[in-house]
Amino acid sequence: MAALRDAGIHDERVLAVMERTPRDIFVPATFGEHCWDNVALPIGHAQTISQPFVVAAMTQALELNERHKVLEIGTGSGYQTAILARLCRRVFTIERHQSLLRDAEKRFAYLRLGNVTSRYGDGTRGWAEPAPYDRIIVTAAAASLPQALLQLLAPDGILVAPVGGERRDQVLMRVRQSGGRSACEELGTVRFVPLVPGLPRHNPIQRDLPL
Ligand code: SAH
Repeated sequence: MAALRDAGIHDERVLAVMERTPRDIFVPATFGEHCWDNVALPIGHAQTISQPFVVAAMTQALELNERHKVLEIGTGSGYQTAILARLCRRVFTIERHQSLLRDAEKRFAYLRLGNVTSRYGDGTRGWAEPAPYDRIIVTAAAASLPQALLQLLAPDGILVAPVGGERRDQVLMRVRQSGGRSACEELGTVRFVPLVPGLPRHNPIQRDLPL
């Protein structure tokens, strides 16, 4: 955690939760010993688990508390979800690869995260029933801020999302709503897999994960 602190993560609750959440169970067994390296690692279906610094920075940017209801788009390995779940009241998370979602759900059960509700689907369409959300986090990059998601945000809500194309540099954006207005901030450059609308046609089950 010293490395995250040195890199500018100052939210003690985020640091404490990252310290007590095992990261090795979220990566394929072959990468276990590298799970804390500050790189994105493959999790199957050409997707990646975000590097620890990016997870910490995005979580910190959300300014979470235990009353918040959070929507996450892009469950992936479920690592970011697990960190969120330990800092808020409830997380709703959507993933478009069924087998990634199934593996993530096993990890939520293993960690006894009873406040995660997950769903297979296209996150670009949002998840309207539980809305509004106090916080929304998108862990895949869209060409522009996803307007459909902004509409699900509570009046004093915060949305954090990487924005930009696949090859160009992406920027981590934070949108903060207050008093009927929204303010946008750029938090730095990032590199995420693309947010892909729709569902995959082929969805083979891959079995190379430790749980
Ligand atoms: N937060 C994840 C990292 C996920 S990588 C972690 O900690 O492991 C981004 C994920 O977004 C991928 O799993 C990808 O399949 C998913 N994704 C991309 N487009 C999506 C969409 N439209 N709806 C839901 N999930 C999507």
